[in-house]
Amino acid sequence: MEKATTRFAPSPTGYIHIGNVRSAIYPYLVARQSGGKMILRIEDTDRERYVEGATELIEDTLKWLGLDWDEGPIVGGPSEPYFQSERLDIYMKWVQKLLDSGRAYADPTPAEKIDEYRKKCEQEKVPFLYRNFRPENPPKWEPGMPIRFKTNPKEYSWTDAVMGDMHTGPEVLDDIILIKKDGYPTYNFAHIVDDAEMGVTHVMRGVEYLSSTPNYLALYEAFGLERPVLVSLPHILAPTGNKKLGKRDGAKSATEYRDDGVLPEAMLNYLACLGWNDGTEQEIYTKEELIKSFSLDRIQNSGARYDETKLLWMNGQWIRRIFDEQGARALYDRTTHFWPAEAEEFPEEYRVKVLSIIYDRLKVLSDLKTMTTYFFKDPEVDVKMIVENKFLKKMSEAELEDLLKTSIRELTALEDWNADSLQEVLNNLLEKTGKKPAELFSLIRIALSFAPFSPALNLTLDTLGRETSLARLNRAAAAI
Ligand code: GLU
Repeated sequence: MEKATTRFAPSPTGYIHIGNVRSAIYPYLVARQSGGKMILRIEDTDRERYVEGATELIEDTLKWLGLDWDEGPIVGGPSEPYFQSERLDIYMKWVQKLLDSGRAYADPTPAEKIDEYRKKCEQEKVPFLYRNFRPENPPKWEPGMPIRFKTNPKEYSWTDAVMGDMHTGPEVLDDIILIKKDGYPTYNFAHIVDDAEMGVTHVMRGVEYLSSTPNYLALYEAFGLERPVLVSLPHILAPTGNKKLGKRDGAKSATEYRDDGVLPEAMLNYLACLGWNDGTEQEIYTKEELIKSFSLDRIQNSGARYDETKLLWMNGQWIRRIFDEQGARALYDRTTHFWPAEAEEFPEEYRVKVLSIIYDRLKVLSDLKTMTTYFFKDPEVDVKMIVENKFLKKMSEAELEDLLKTSIRELTALEDWNADSLQEVLNNLLEKTGKKPAELFSLIRIALSFAPFSPALNLTLDTLGRETSLARLNRAAAAI
């Protein structure tokens, strides 16, 4: 495979939609698979949409996901600068070539005039094409005047690596603006120049640019540039309906998921597989496996539906995988921000132990906040939780108190308090009391935690320790 040079070229407009993140993953995989280069380029020429801090957000997101770039902000590179707003002289140099060869012109037409043309076309029910109104004798360019491409309408054929063979007629070609009034280039022009200067071999971007591609082909031609491989990535669809996933559909930005405790491995895995598969049943991929398996021709050409439940499921898989493969300590190191405030006063070993018995129930790491409080703080006694429990409500209060007291007695007698010996005591208790596990264990479990759920009872008792466990059980018995 030839070395590919790919790029991720986001616009720093604030929120990074997770669909945008996928547009970074695929170029990254192609670059790494071929031993080529990945470029990060910041497309900040739309000054009205520019948001302060958005570039840092993009960089943080890529770093978090482990998508390192070989050229771009921070790391630099031979095509510096990598911010389009700092490359204005380069665009002017390139546009000058077109002005000189008569393939571009300065356009003094005022906006009102253009509106008039547009309205006229509407009335006549013909498509509005600016090239039909291009000024006959364009003036010499002066700052403040837009520069337009002088197109040469004709048919184009090309192959998009995802969408397949494409063909368009002359009607889609127009005199697109290259340089705006404010002196900044349009996306349409700037990306052609930058991709050429930076040696980009694969242009991978959202499918929304597909309809403009003939205009890009015309520009490649006018400059005598070789066409790069064109790759249109289908939209990510909202969970329901047929529309593109948007902020309003509940999809958070990648960093919001990070702050909820989604692991970068899971996010990368999920997004890479959103609209791509390698033809096998495999669902869990490491970054290295993705680099190995990825291929452009297996990107599906229809929209992929965003499914947060699946993302969270994958995150659960990754939490378990890290625990199993790297150990409790490695998983613990990922959880530092996610513990309830009370946990701070407890030694790390204790938190690692809590994590070890609860990790397989976590969907996101921030579940620790709500699921582990009773390990760090005595819960409030809520007798209702006991007497109204579906397994316990058929017993009288006296019976419940009695059952709890018997359990306390047996547990108090246990000398060597550990998970195995505790399990033995619990089994003996079942035999002795003739109760079902759901009854006896629910009672003890609630009395210890007053939480809707807790890990295996012997592990909970073992982790809480003898003193705390017995104190809590006594407190609950007294309350009944
Ligand atoms: N700046 C464009 C965007 O954010 C990038 C399109 C491209 O990758 O060429 O949508």
